[in-house]
Amino acid sequence: TLTVVGSINLDITATASRLPSPGETVGGAVLRQQPGGKGANQAVAAARLAGNARMVGAVGQDEAGRTLLSAMAGAGVDVQDIAQVEGATGTALVLVDSQGENQIVVCPGANGSVALDGITFRDDEALLCQLEVDQDVVLEAARRAPGFFALNAAPAAPIIPELLERCDLVIVNETEYELIPALKNAPLVAVTYGADGSALFVDGERVAEAPAVRVTDIANTIGAGDAFCAALVLALGSGLEHSHALAVANAVGADAVRDASSQPALQPLEHYIEATHLL
Ligand code: ADP
Repeated sequence: TLTVVGSINLDITATASRLPSPGETVGGAVLRQQPGGKGANQAVAAARLAGNARMVGAVGQDEAGRTLLSAMAGAGVDVQDIAQVEGATGTALVLVDSQGENQIVVCPGANGSVALDGITFRDDEALLCQLEVDQDVVLEAARRAPGFFALNAAPAAPIIPELLERCDLVIVNETEYELIPALKNAPLVAVTYGADGSALFVDGERVAEAPAVRVTDIANTIGAGDAFCAALVLALGSGLEHSHALAVANAVGADAVRDASSQPALQPLEHYIEATHLL
């Protein structure tokens, strides 16, 4: 089982012809509300790929929180360890332009109350965290998790040295890789390059890479990185060698960008393993 400790957000998205500059108003946009948060996106992707996943997090005692909980449960995520706390459910305000380029403001709300009291971690489960909840909570999870521990170091922030040392795998996009110099000395780092695929680095040295799947009908690139993270942890956990695991995660990321949702429909992991094993 893959367990995610992380954020759960309601994404309120306005799709406009272009992104406004400061002080400018762009009209004619289309409004959409959908589940998001890197943690929830990764848990849902894992559940769709593996058939199950567990999420540790928090939502508010509000309509958004109830909606997000039932949506996650419906996707096959075990939501028993998601707390319902006072205050607002985390919310992301997202602007998307006609090219799929985006700007995002995050209001953490209940994600600031994620705590690990009473949560147990087993040695047969992999843990996947991000940096949208308090890094002290991520560090506590890293200390207590007896099994495989992966960190998606996003959004980019300096990583507590003890946390970085505990990581069996760090996953970042190329911007985050440049913003966090300590990653150049980390034992295993996966870096994503959007339409240019992904690579694995050991102590700053590139040891494996895989090209992206060419996608001509891009619907939404938000959530591609999250689907990639869940897929890579599951692929490595199932014993695939490095470049095959990257190819599987790229294939999952490609399906994610073809899907308008940031919690995209995905095939079971075996489908991607088979589709990539001759590449
Ligand atoms: P993030 O959204 O976190 O910045 P990336 O944009 O690097 O992450 O995307 C993560 C992964 O999703 C990529 O490594 C790739 O496998 C896949 N992906 C993203 N954008 C595209 C694209 N335009 N075409 C094909 N695959 C893509």
